[in-house]
Amino acid sequence: MTYNCPLHCNHCYTDCYNSLEHKRRELSTEHVKQALDKCKQAKTVWLCFTGGDPLTRKDFPEIYLYAKKLGFIINVFSSLTCMDKKMLELFKKHPPFNIETTLNAVTPRTYYKITRAYLFEKQIDSIKKLITNNIEVRIKTQVTKFNIGEIDKIKSLVERLGRQFRPSTMLFARLNHDTAPCNLRLEPKEAVRVNGKYGYYEEEEVRLPGKKLQLEDMITEPFDKLFSCAVGGHSFWISPEGKMFLCTCLREPSYNLLEKGATVQKGFDRLNKEVHSMKFKTNSICRSCRYRMLCKWCPARALLEKDSLEEPIEHFCKMTDEVVGKNKR
Ligand code: SF4
Ligand code: SF4
Ligand code: SF4
Repeated sequence: MTYNCPLHCNHCYTDCYNSLEHKRRELSTEHVKQALDKCKQAKTVWLCFTGGDPLTRKDFPEIYLYAKKLGFIINVFSSLTCMDKKMLELFKKHPPFNIETTLNAVTPRTYYKITRAYLFEKQIDSIKKLITNNIEVRIKTQVTKFNIGEIDKIKSLVERLGRQFRPSTMLFARLNHDTAPCNLRLEPKEAVRVNGKYGYYEEEEVRLPGKKLQLEDMITEPFDKLFSCAVGGHSFWISPEGKMFLCTCLREPSYNLLEKGATVQKGFDRLNKEVHSMKFKTNSICRSCRYRMLCKWCPARALLEKDSLEEPIEHFCKMTDEVVGKNKR
């Protein structure tokens, strides 16, 4: 909905657009409603309001209620640092399916170092108020070099709040290709250790019907198709300016949803056709890699970090080495 956010997290991939200049380009309330109508027309079921922080939009309550009336199942991703009484009342009266927030510190000091904002207490207070009012809150944690030393304390805090600890070690370059967040990654070995020790996986992410997914299931013969993930299969994104695309890291190809005659279905079909017909054009080592399904490398992440859809990303390559063992590659 917006790139605007009260925080400026050092790992944030959208913070490069957290500026007045981008705020001015955001869709108006009426245009957001038009986009929602188009989603509804295409029989969209799930809707996630994200950003930046969607709660920073003054018209969030109006848009939220409009989406509720259309019958979507709604997630809201927010730092909760600007949730006021009115917003809480709104969620109490019209609860979302859930709200997800990212909590990366246990002290105002570390919180400030990461976010450049003194809003630690405010976020904790908002989380507690939502929980007290039986609104489903999920807490995520972005693990970086900055907070790895506090990981057990963050876990305890999250668990004291009665939530499941859901850490992620994945970091990407920013949408403007600034690679600063990548410098905050844990060392590959450490990232694999942290994922193994604290990793949280949804059951459906690790299971094939009736069978737990094994390492060998992820090894494939080389193939030329560029995108091997489920991008676009059942979801799409709409930017604050009304552009539709298939993945938050892949902003092109895009489709202008607000153009005359544009529909979600047309955009979805066109984008899927284009993205899924893309093939490797170079002899990138990723093209012939048998571990591509296992590796966190993907063309969209490579484009952000390497300015190339095909270039390998050393960090993910090393993580894969850690998982499969160097001798096997
Ligand atoms: S709270 Fe989220 S959107 Fe806001 S700066 Fe941090 S990572 Fe970015
Ligand atoms: S980030 Fe990469 S792996 Fe994930 S959905 Fe997008 S293209 Fe696929
Ligand atoms: S980054 Fe390395 S491990 Fe990953 S797909 Fe490319 S070659 Fe394979």
